[in-house]
Amino acid sequence: MNNSLASRNNGPWNIYIETAPARFTEMVKAAVLVEPRKIEVRDFPEPEPDDYSIVARPDVCGICGTDLHLFEGHMNIPYPLILGHEFTATVEKIGAKAKGLEATGRELHAGDLVAVVPGTSKFCGTCFYCRYVPDKPQLCSNRKALGISMSCRDAPHLFGAFAEGVYIDVSRWYVFKLDPEFPRELGALVEPMAVASRAFERSFSPGRPSGWDGFGPGKTILVQGAGPIGLLVMAAARISGAGKILAIEKVKTRSKMAEDIGADRVIDMNEFPTREERTKEVLRITNGIGVDVAVECVGFPDAFGEGIGMVRRGGKYVEVGHYTDQGVVEVSPHAICRGDIEISGSWSHPPSQFQTSINLLSKYRDTIPYKSMLTHTFNFSEASKAIETIRSGQAVKVTLTP
Ligand SMILES: [Zn+2]
Ligand SMILES: [Zn+2]
Repeated sequence: MNNSLASRNNGPWNIYIETAPARFTEMVKAAVLVEPRKIEVRDFPEPEPDDYSIVARPDVCGICGTDLHLFEGHMNIPYPLILGHEFTATVEKIGAKAKGLEATGRELHAGDLVAVVPGTSKFCGTCFYCRYVPDKPQLCSNRKALGISMSCRDAPHLFGAFAEGVYIDVSRWYVFKLDPEFPRELGALVEPMAVASRAFERSFSPGRPSGWDGFGPGKTILVQGAGPIGLLVMAAARISGAGKILAIEKVKTRSKMAEDIGADRVIDMNEFPTREERTKEVLRITNGIGVDVAVECVGFPDAFGEGIGMVRRGGKYVEVGHYTDQGVVEVSPHAICRGDIEISGSWSHPPSQFQTSINLLSKYRDTIPYKSMLTHTFNFSEASKAIETIRSGQAVKVTLTP
C-alpha cells in the first residue's frame, strides 16, 4: 500500500496512523480516463481497507459538467484517473476504526448505503485558508477530490466512482449514511444538490432578516440555465418559499422540467433570442424593478454580464456556473456600483452541505419531481457513450451504474 496512507496527515492535529499491509483478493473494473478523450476499462486489485477506510460498491454515479471538462482535457489533472464524484455506494468492507467515523456520528456497517463528499473534509491545517478561513474548508489549497484530482496510478487506486469499487479513507472524507427511506435513485443528485443549495444560500443575508436584503420567503429569484444545478437551485428556492421563480433556458425539455420543478415563468431563448429582449422581459415581469436575487448556472461568460442587468438595485447575484475558465465578458462597473449589487462566487460547498442536500432530496421527494431530471442511465463501462449523450444537449442528468 502506498506510503502516503501510512503517514497521512489527519487534519490539523497531525495524528499519524499505522496502516495494515494490503491484502488483495479479487479484481474490480473501473473506467479510467487515460488521457484526454480516451476512457478504458481496466482491472484493479480489490484492496482491503485499513483501519480508517472502507471499500464500497458504487450504487449510482452522476456525470456532471466537470466530468465533461476533465474528459476534454480542459483541467490540469493527474492522469490516469477514474472519474466519478457524484455517487452513493454500499459499504462492502470496513476498517475497525472507520465504523465510528460516519459524518453524523452514527455507526457505520458493511451493507450501509452511503453518500460520500468527494472533496477532502479534513483540511490540511497548514495552508492560509485552513488557518484563516476555516469555515470554508473547500478553499483549502491542498484539497483533494475523489474522481477529479486523485490519480489511480497510486495504490489503492480506486479513487473514483465510475467503477465496481471505490476506496474511501473515512478519516479524510465525510461519509453520510443514508436512511432506508432515502430514495435510492436520487443518489446521483446528492452532490449536485449540495453545490446548488450552497450557491442558493449565498443569496441569503444571515442574521439580517431586513425583508428586502437577500433571499427570503416571498422573494423573486431568477435562475439562468435549467441544467441539473439550475433545476436544483429552483427546487431549493421553491422549498424555501420563493415568491416567484423565473428561469431562462433554450432547450425545450429543460424548460419543461423547470416548470415541473416550480418555475413560474421560463423565458425561452428561442422566443427571446437577444440579451436586450430577455432583460426587457424580466423587467416587464418584475414591474420594471428587476429580480431580488439571481443565480448564474449556465456556464457561458455572457450570461454573467446579462444576469447582472436583471437584478434590482440592492439585489444579489450568485455565480456558480463557471467551474472552469470559459473566458471573459464585458460588464459595466457602473451598473454594479449604481445598483448597489452584491455579487458572490460559490465554489463547491463545505462537507456539511451534504446534510442539507440529503434533507432537501429526502423530505421533498414527493413534492419536487427530482426523478424527472434523471434522463439517461448507462453501465459505467459505457462512460464515453454517456459523455457523448450529455454533449448532445438533450439529456439532463446522466447516471452510471456498475
Ligand atoms: Zn459534479
Ligand atoms: Zn489547507
